[in-house]
Amino acid sequence: MNEYKIAVVPGDGIGPEVTAGAVMALEAIGEKFKRKFIFSEVIAGGCAVDLFGEPLPKESFDACKRSDAVLLGAVGGKKWDSLTDRFRPENALFALRSGLGLYANIRPAFLYPQLRHACPLRLDAAEKGIDILIVRELTGGIYFGERGRKLTENGTSAYDTEIYNEKEIRRIATVAFEAAMKRKRKITSVDKANVLESSRLWRDVVSSVAKDYPGAALNHMYVDNAAMQLIRDPSQFDVMLTTNMFGDILSDEASQLTGSIGMLPSACLGDQSPGLFEPIHGSAPDIAGRDIANPIAAIFSCAMMLKHSFDLHDESRAVETAVLRVLDLGYGTADIFSQGMTLIGTEEMGSRIADEIRKGE
Ligand code: NAD
Repeated sequence: MNEYKIAVVPGDGIGPEVTAGAVMALEAIGEKFKRKFIFSEVIAGGCAVDLFGEPLPKESFDACKRSDAVLLGAVGGKKWDSLTDRFRPENALFALRSGLGLYANIRPAFLYPQLRHACPLRLDAAEKGIDILIVRELTGGIYFGERGRKLTENGTSAYDTEIYNEKEIRRIATVAFEAAMKRKRKITSVDKANVLESSRLWRDVVSSVAKDYPGAALNHMYVDNAAMQLIRDPSQFDVMLTTNMFGDILSDEASQLTGSIGMLPSACLGDQSPGLFEPIHGSAPDIAGRDIANPIAAIFSCAMMLKHSFDLHDESRAVETAVLRVLDLGYGTADIFSQGMTLIGTEEMGSRIADEIRKGE
């Protein structure tokens, strides 16, 4: 395949700013490696609510489904916070993930030497390094379980249901074990089995999948302990296997350890449909429209797309190398900036990385 159809969903807030940088990087890859990327812009999120009255119009979903891969910026913002569930921009994400069957969310958290200064941990902890692959279940659990409100004698009560079945746990556990076999072969499965029945099933099924991988070392950890251990000594983790909500929270925590949430990419993968690639951050309304957001998470997401969806490993490495080269040259956006660096904006970061891709050997 020499032609790749990419659906670009810029979304809201900083989404369009960071996806613009990511598209620049892919265009540079296309020129350098003679690949043809065909981009089509897709409207989803709050902007789709404004234009069409719903966060993911059918046409937008179909355009994503027809593509070879989806690049998503971020959706959401205060403007739409008062809308009910179905109309909230975030619903576009859930509908895309479940509609495309993207049950596995892969979130690498790596502390680059260039960003050690931005790691908030003690120097000795940071020096041991951070290289964690968070494998988060994405289409089940409390984000998809039954929810609602009812009137009780104590006023309104609300509930959300954490629910998992064996099939869902088995398939995400298999993704985690397969990934671990290509790394340090160590898996930490995160749950709350001391309290939650769904976690007890999670633990049973993960333990049974482990029997198919005798070469991998599995340990189970309660989520509260995992949150603490991430701060105490993140170097102990290789692959972290988590439910949907626990992974959402722990990956934000891990992102800060690696310098900034603006650095962390993710891949959402299923068995057949196009993969969806997105930075782990949200639409950051507090900094939107000011050309200060870090586009690197979105650009690294393209590196994951090249590798996981298109099998273009040299191209993927070229993106990563170009990002590191720009950091080596001392350029940084505000979130990773420290004394001695040159402060640049979102657009300049994107174009410098694209230039480095073009220059690369
Ligand atoms: P957020 O990730 O948008 O922002 C958290 C903090 O990180 C903010 O201070 C922000 O300025 C900073 N930040 C985020 N991305 C950055 C970047 N690339 N460069 C520099 N700084 C960055 O999380 P939030 O504030 O909790 O959520 C804002 C909106 O985004 C909400 O509507 C939320 O629902 C939505 N959201 C969307 C997604 C998604 O689209 N995948 C994910 C999370 C949150």
